[in-house]
Formats: sequence, structure tokens, C-alpha cells
Amino acid sequence: MTPREVAALLAYIVRLDPRMALDDETAAADRLAQWCDLLSDVPATAHGWDAARVARDYIARNPYRIQPADISRPWHAHKADMLSRHVGTFEPTAHPHLDPDDIDGYRAALAADRAAVATGQQPPTTHRAITAGPAAEQVERRLAALGSYIPRHVDDVLSQYRPQRAARLAAIRAGQPDALAVACTWCGAPVGQPCRIRRIHPKSGAMRTRPMTQPHPCRIEAARAQEAQQ
Ligand SMILES: [Zn+2]
Repeated sequence: MTPREVAALLAYIVRLDPRMALDDETAAADRLAQWCDLLSDVPATAHGWDAARVARDYIARNPYRIQPADISRPWHAHKADMLSRHVGTFEPTAHPHLDPDDIDGYRAALAADRAAVATGQQPPTTHRAITAGPAAEQVERRLAALGSYIPRHVDDVLSQYRPQRAARLAAIRAGQPDALAVACTWCGAPVGQPCRIRRIHPKSGAMRTRPMTQPHPCRIEAARAQEAQQ
């Protein structure tokens, strides 16, 4: 925070907690200098951070007079939280000048990225780069086509009871085409239904079908061809 920002913060704090008012000008100047020193590495505002709000919350919840540490400690906790959520990969589109073979340049860009997160100038990148960009859009489009209202993590839990659906989702998330979007020419399974194996009961001779977890390979190819046409 700049001295001007610290002065504004102190004025706001005095408004909220009149006990913080100082009549003596020398004492006020000393306090301002002390706060400026202790809060020099704390921004007034940053991504997900507002020092005035932290001060307000402190005064609302504590009977004690606020100290600079009551603002700097939450800032360092916030910064650590941002960095822990930052995975250290960035979207290539944000760094178009970067040559993938330029290792030093890449390292420098990663370091700059991390510094920007640490100082709150940039939100953390919480998803791996692979889940961003055109490939991820395609994955999202395929998942959206499945039309599920079930949140994905719930879906994951339910998946163990629905192996065909689990395999379908896993394939889509891995970037493969959605095989069930086309009918299977091998086993005749219609769109949306898993591929099946015919079973003949050894004694009664009755024919039954059993759904397979994985689609027939020719069906995956057919789905790929269909997606390529679209
Ligand atoms: Zn099939």
C-alpha cells in the first residue's frame, strides 16, 4: 500500500472504531509511518482481496483495537492460498510470443505468472492448460451433448454402478469421439445404447444380449468420421 492508501485506510478504520482516533498530531504521524512500513508489501486491493474489507471484518468481529498485523497476516494467508491453487500452467493463448522450444523464455514466463499471482495482479490458474483451449471446448461440447443435469462429481460417484456410462464419459474426457452418438454396424446397437454381446444359454438355448462396457472399435471409427464431417 502506498502512504496515501494507508492514510485512507486509517481514516476508514477511525470511522468504524472511534477509539482509534488520535488527537495528537505527532502520535498520528508516528502511527501512519509505522503502518506504512508494516503494510508496504500488502496491496490495498488485489484479486479476491480488499484491505478495507479485511479491516472492516476485523473491527466487526473483535473487541480489540486493530493492528497492522491484523491486515498483513490475512494478506499473506490469502497470497499463500492463491499460490497453492495456482498450478503453474498458463493458457498458451495468453503468451502468443512464447516459443515452446525456448526453455529460458518459458521459465521466465512461468516465474512472471507466479509473481503476478503472488501480488494479486492475476487470479490463480486452477485448471491444467489441457482443460483450456480448443481441445477442451470440444470435450465440453461432447459432454454437453450427453445432456446431464447431474453435477460431474456426483456423476463420478454414480459411475461405478453404470460401467457403460462411465466408459463413455471417460472416453469423451480423454478426447475421444462419443461412440454412442452413432449406431453400431457390428452389433446393431442403436444410438445411445451400448454395444452388446450375444449370449446363448448353454441349457435352454435362449438367446440373450449383455451390454459391453467398451464400444466396438468400428463404432468409435464411425463416430470419429461423423464428427469430422460436422
Ligand atoms: Zn457394437
